[in-house]
Amino acid sequence: MSILGKPVSPSWPGGYWGHWGFWAILLLAFDLLLVMAFIWLERRWIARVQLRLGPNRAGPFGLLQPIADAVKILLKEDIVPQRADRWVHFLAPLVAFSATAFVFVVIPFQEGAGLVPDLNVGILYVLAIGLLSLIGIFMAGWGSANKFSLVASLRAVAQIISYEIPMMLALVAVIMVTSSLSLQEIIRQQHVPFVILLPLSFLIYFIGALTEIQRTPMDLLEAESELVTGYHIEYSGMKFALFYLAEYTEALIVSLLTAILFLSGWKGPLLPPFLWLLIKVVLVFMVIVWIRGTFPRIRIDQLMGFSWKFLLPLSILNLFIIGGELILLPSFPGWLAPVNIAIAGLLIYLCSRPFRIGFGLGLLKGLATTIRNASRIPITTQYPWEKLNVSRRWRGQEFVWDPEKCIGCSVCAQACPHGNITVIASGKGKERVVEKFEIDLGKCIYCGLCVEACPTKSLAFGLGYESARTRFSELVVGQEELAAPGKVPSAFARPEYEAELPQQTLLVNQKEHPWESP
Ligand code: SF4
Ligand code: SF4
Repeated sequence: MSILGKPVSPSWPGGYWGHWGFWAILLLAFDLLLVMAFIWLERRWIARVQLRLGPNRAGPFGLLQPIADAVKILLKEDIVPQRADRWVHFLAPLVAFSATAFVFVVIPFQEGAGLVPDLNVGILYVLAIGLLSLIGIFMAGWGSANKFSLVASLRAVAQIISYEIPMMLALVAVIMVTSSLSLQEIIRQQHVPFVILLPLSFLIYFIGALTEIQRTPMDLLEAESELVTGYHIEYSGMKFALFYLAEYTEALIVSLLTAILFLSGWKGPLLPPFLWLLIKVVLVFMVIVWIRGTFPRIRIDQLMGFSWKFLLPLSILNLFIIGGELILLPSFPGWLAPVNIAIAGLLIYLCSRPFRIGFGLGLLKGLATTIRNASRIPITTQYPWEKLNVSRRWRGQEFVWDPEKCIGCSVCAQACPHGNITVIASGKGKERVVEKFEIDLGKCIYCGLCVEACPTKSLAFGLGYESARTRFSELVVGQEELAAPGKVPSAFARPEYEAELPQQTLLVNQKEHPWESP
């Protein structure tokens, strides 16, 4: 055993259990801290690739947002459905989280640093233990007594098993080249990062890993549009937090494994090895989030078809090619990298013909579009202090009517294409009195023709949203309501009101809408 490269003395305080306890606490702290950092990073980074700001209120740059979220979620009430299988419901989040946390046992953080960094079957251990979280997901679906949860958990099983097979076959190529199952030994043997030397294995592994950690575009077990929030619909408070933690821990583990298996782990010049590993982990996670921010969710049949008809044949072909190369060149030299890249391109093109994605140029174009956004100024507003500039053609959903100015001419009623306005007036000339003035908002299309036609400017759009009524009959608004005190006409619809209005309502920005300059 050793810590950060230095062998642990046999007189380690507390002996074996002391060493075990120290690393267990250290790894748990590492997991929790990095998960908090990942939650913040994901929100900020995905916002940047989508031209938004992301969290920016709680603390500088929104750094305290994960803490605020954690406090909020822990204070929430724990609700268990009446028909739920209480024990299964209770244990599911524990199983899901502990299965992911146990993977840290074999992660080498640098040469010899970790709980059991040089386990001779490290990669097998990671794959076997990592899959146990699937049992937690299935327990959650089964124990919740909710059909949506059950369908989501069954999807999870189908999806994860489908992608686990090509993913494992891709990792077999890594094992064949290094002749080792130890994660530490795999890093030692990467003189050329395997991402270049084994590009096809990397691609298959990465797609499979994205599916396993339920990240968009493969997050079908949480597809809100179909399954509400998936297998954890019936979870709240601390139990939901554990699922959330398990999900981000899985993302952290996938980032760690990608860095270890394909990016030479802790290897790198100048900086300390542990820092190199951390930098690579963060970069991999940013790529995962970048993909999430670019592509929409795919359909379940497309997802399954992609695995069985594309990834699986590709991973088998890849194994044969790497095996052939190893027979011809047992030392597997670095100059094979360009050859393998060319072979990967050709195989992807041939196997992807039924999917019509060519070389994936369309996908790369999408990724280029979103990464370009990261250098642009985000388009967002600091609501409520800043408000979005809107067009002069914008119409509010509230009418303001001035009985003092109205002459009962009925021009507005005649201008209305839907016949929404009823005007009844009596008398002639200066004696004319408006007896009834009504607008049916249920039929109104807010075209503004009545407002534009009114010769006395007694009718205007307001700033409120009055159409939020529950019955159609309530949508017919009369004189009292239209002329209620406190209503403010909108300057967007009637620019001539601008001089009379308070500053915050004058939001028309001529720079934004130069074509609408008066
Ligand atoms: S906004 Fe258009 S549809 Fe609505 S009452 Fe006025 S003229 Fe009629
Ligand atoms: S609101 Fe204007 S157009 Fe309509 S009746 Fe009154 S004055 Fe005439």
